[in-house]
Amino acid sequence: MRGEALDTPQTGPAVALSGVNKWFGAHHVLRDVDLTVAKAEKIVICGPSGSGKSTLIRCVNGLEAHQAGTIQVDGIALTGVPASVDAVRREVGMVFQHFNLFAHLTVLENCTLAPIHVKRMGRAAAEELAMGYLDRVRIPQLAGKFPGQLSGGQQQRVAIARALCMSPKVMLFDEPTSALDPEMVKEVLDTMAELARGGMTMLCVTHEMGFAREVADRVVFMDEGQIIETAPPAAFFDSPRHPRTQAFLSQIL
Ligand code: ADP
Ligand code: MG
Repeated sequence: MRGEALDTPQTGPAVALSGVNKWFGAHHVLRDVDLTVAKAEKIVICGPSGSGKSTLIRCVNGLEAHQAGTIQVDGIALTGVPASVDAVRREVGMVFQHFNLFAHLTVLENCTLAPIHVKRMGRAAAEELAMGYLDRVRIPQLAGKFPGQLSGGQQQRVAIARALCMSPKVMLFDEPTSALDPEMVKEVLDTMAELARGGMTMLCVTHEMGFAREVADRVVFMDEGQIIETAPPAAFFDSPRHPRTQAFLSQIL
């Protein structure tokens, strides 16, 4: 059961990482990562493949354990104790590259599963909530379909609605448009931009630099497990300071 103190609105940052280190065996994949994300702030994380972006955001919701340093989400520390992981996961919604929808459940059932089974919400209330979010991502008409009947862009919008149904304080995105056909990228980015305008706290790993420019408050560049540079988008793109950031941007822009 969640304690009273955990329900009290926190005045501190939405997410705080301090001195975070992680190894996979002997492989040191996160090196002294410090990152503080304010409530309603939008962070875009970019960097070369293998630089630790996915590992970083997976650590934020306890999908991966870190070995040193501290991670707090809305004031709740991830200590490695299962209860702390459960408490943090209730605050965090995650959207992956490969939508990870349940193929045997309808869109509506995908969205109501966690509210019913984790939040113990009644079915009718959960369905009303889910329809509200499906409406918000502009696919209420698809509620009765199965994931296999949808386009990739539609499936990803279901994944976003499903995450929102748990009323997360923070949304994590790990390359949500990388697996999509080009013509579907925009509808998902538009959905994310709308969520951002609504005041959601967001950490997005993406190489969509147009999205970063428009939506991010700060862009974080990672390389070899470290945060190399953090800056507001205009400064990040127009005058990157670190040579490695400059090299990365010259390859992708
Ligand atoms: P990115 O998302 O930036 O491409 P990742 O966080 O996926 O990078 O990976 C960072 C490093 O950690 C890579 O060298 C990758 O091979 C390694 N890695 C990621 N996941 C695992 C795992 N489950 N076991 C072992 N090594 C992993
Ligand atoms: Mg990745």
